[in-house]
Amino acid sequence: MILKTESTPYHLFGLEALQRRLSLSRSLEIDITGRLRIANAGINGERALQAIFNKYKLTFEHAIYHGLNLQSTGKFQIDNLFLSHQGAYIFEVKNIQGRISFSEKTNQLIRTLDNGQVDAFECPSVQLRRNHYLLQDWLHGRNLSIPIHTAVVFPNPRQIIENTRPDLRILFPNEVPSMLRESELNPPVIDSRTFSHIKNELLKGNIDFNPFPMCKRFQIDPVEIKSGVLCDICGTLGMQRIFRGWGCNVCKSISRTAHIQAITDWFMLVSDTMNNRQCREFLHVPKNYTASRLLDDLPLEPQGVNRGRYYHFPLERMV
Ligand SMILES: [Zn+2]
Repeated sequence: MILKTESTPYHLFGLEALQRRLSLSRSLEIDITGRLRIANAGINGERALQAIFNKYKLTFEHAIYHGLNLQSTGKFQIDNLFLSHQGAYIFEVKNIQGRISFSEKTNQLIRTLDNGQVDAFECPSVQLRRNHYLLQDWLHGRNLSIPIHTAVVFPNPRQIIENTRPDLRILFPNEVPSMLRESELNPPVIDSRTFSHIKNELLKGNIDFNPFPMCKRFQIDPVEIKSGVLCDICGTLGMQRIFRGWGCNVCKSISRTAHIQAITDWFMLVSDTMNNRQCREFLHVPKNYTASRLLDDLPLEPQGVNRGRYYHFPLERMV
């Protein structure tokens, strides 16, 4: 039973907003395209495993969590956690193209592309070990102790893996259900009461990680963020406010809602608050009244009164 579906990919949305509003040279410097590629590959890899859990119905009692964010002796994210009467299983999906080998001397994964390009990544065993300890601490904090198993899952079953590491269990998605089914043949180590307790505590303990504002994260000066309302037809920044909407001077298209993305971009990139003046400057609207109406129409949380009024955008309402 899937108890938690994947988290909203806020980090990916933040990168897309940076791509919309940073100069090309600055985007290249921070490697926004490369970061977007990695974020998208991660999401696609996750979905390959989620598809397996949706497809294979396991007949024994279990709970599945995707994108679990927890905090014990440190904050940690477990992309896929499986809980059964045998213990917890952490599955880390690595969507990496090319031939893969593991370094014998360092904690690195080396991949070689068909064109000969060689890249090194952190070995998944490092992250799995870290998550193992942090989950163990999280359980100890609740006076619980259960077996924790870990494995890395490579989503592409045709991937060539040249060697392995003794401390790392490697699986392809199709192997996951049979591995779980086999392990379930062993006598249970968690009783029903404890199982239910852990199941609920995991859901209660989840806190969505907020990566915003991106400027702070990447040490970008907010003046580098281009202002204006973006035309989603031709991509021009700086739509003009017209009666109850926005008009693009370049492609002549009209939108009633183009400001919503612009205001959301501000919260994702620049600051966790926005006041009337900041709204006018960012959207290029001259009138206080217009900015107030646009801000009040969105599901923001206003604070303060009159000239001291400012707004928050709660994370869960942003998408
Ligand atoms: Zn346009």
